[in-house]
Amino acid sequence: MTEITQDQIDQSALKPPPISDIISDGAVVPSIEGKRFVVKSAIDESILAEIPDCSALDVDRAVANARRAYEEGRWTKLHPRERKRILRRWADLVAAEAFDLAVLSARDMGATVPHIRNLELENAVDCLYWYSETTDKVYDELIQTEPGVTAQIVRMPLGVVGAILPWNAPAMIGAWKIAPALVAGNSVVVKPSEDGSLAVMRMVELAFEAGIPKGVLEIVTGGGAAGAALSAHPDVDCLTFTGSTSTGRRIMAAAANSNLKRVALELGGKSANLVFADAPNLEMAADVSVGFMFSNNGQVCEAPTRLLVQRSIYESFAEKILSRAAGMKVGNPLTLGTDIGPVVNRRQYEGVLSGIEKGLSDGAELLLDGRSPSGAPAGNYLGPSVARVANSSGYLAQNEVFGPILSILTFDTEEEAIAIANDSKYGLGASVWSNNVETIGRVTHKLVAGNINVNGGTGPVVELPFGGFKESGFGRDRSFHAIDKYSDLKNIITRVPV
Ligand code: NDP
Repeated sequence: MTEITQDQIDQSALKPPPISDIISDGAVVPSIEGKRFVVKSAIDESILAEIPDCSALDVDRAVANARRAYEEGRWTKLHPRERKRILRRWADLVAAEAFDLAVLSARDMGATVPHIRNLELENAVDCLYWYSETTDKVYDELIQTEPGVTAQIVRMPLGVVGAILPWNAPAMIGAWKIAPALVAGNSVVVKPSEDGSLAVMRMVELAFEAGIPKGVLEIVTGGGAAGAALSAHPDVDCLTFTGSTSTGRRIMAAAANSNLKRVALELGGKSANLVFADAPNLEMAADVSVGFMFSNNGQVCEAPTRLLVQRSIYESFAEKILSRAAGMKVGNPLTLGTDIGPVVNRRQYEGVLSGIEKGLSDGAELLLDGRSPSGAPAGNYLGPSVARVANSSGYLAQNEVFGPILSILTFDTEEEAIAIANDSKYGLGASVWSNNVETIGRVTHKLVAGNINVNGGTGPVVELPFGGFKESGFGRDRSFHAIDKYSDLKNIITRVPV
């Protein structure tokens, strides 16, 4: 955990964004048509930068550059140890700038500096180091099928990978996708969100300083049109995406209607957090539940937005939750001591308010109303809200709001807890708090979720795969398993007389 001072933040916030154009074939260039869009700060909607508004023409150019780099083997012909050194240098450069990148991202999308520096950038850097070390450890297999026949099972890169990123953790999710795609030997075209481009643009620039050959990593900035062009492009072999379920559907349709490119989708969630009466430490359970739920202002796909509490401890546990949530400080994310910054933009702000409204119309009872947080600056600021939801069919029990609204439900039995937890179209995360190893064993076995924390769990770690079931998507980021989705196997069968 890096110590952060207010003076450091203030100094860093004076720096202009280090790069305001895209990188095409290793050179910093504007978009082909020269169009730009204004990046506004989530903090106060002041203008942070003007960056290229890329069109399908820019996507075509980026994909062509990436394809040429792949066909010429600019990356794959390097010795694996050299690729490892380049990726490690990239990690060193991102690590050296992690603080400035965190402040830049805080100004861009509104999460607090300690959150971005110590969670997101820390994990992005870990991810780059970890994958650099896997570069020379991906082995092929050799099988004897019959005497005189040797069969190799060889792992092949796919070619050109498109990566479309969200705004809620752009540096971290960018690293999760770019690093394993490069380790597998592909070229990558990355499209950050228009609400979270600036840190990713600098990370891509640093990749070239580290020695990534031109064309191996391309970046196109701009709105959904650039993402749509990338996902429909006939020369992209794989599209990896994190964002909303509705955009995920469009991407899958575009893949089906173009070249049947492979798709990996990390989408929404409505993660259940099951607190049994015998939980070993209810104070800790309340700390973690509130901290995780309202981290990044609830704009986290895996946030434990459905708190399922065993009825016998409902009153006392709800009190712990409410007192912690009410104590969170909402304010400028560049000010140390702020727990929650603004939500990312006006559309998101209005979407959260509308989600809460729909929940209330559907019978939810607001136990804590954070819609007008006291002391917060003017702008897109929302404090923690907590709602009691009578049953699992309630709007706030079923729908991802992607903001600071926690729903509390109650259950009596273990079976009921499992049924409520699985009564969701999503299957991304879940948490279980219990002291009973048999309860833990049964419940974790039956929960349909990609990541289950028991009595605390961990934050995002690169060693573990990440992704979901059902409408939370498919395919996994992080770990050796991510390399699988950016490569495939081919057999080379050789008959040599013995
Ligand atoms: P989107 O899913 O719309 O955006 C995610 C990424 O996809 C962005 O880079 C976006 O570009 C791009 N994109 C948009 N339209 C298309 C398209 N047709 N084809 C290909 N790419 C496209 O999310 P939003 O940013 O609009 O956020 C809306 C909701 O999405 C949130 O309220 C939340 O529910 C969910 N979300 C989930 C995330 C997660 O971690 N699973 C992360 C972020 C959002 P651009 O932003 O430039 O338009």
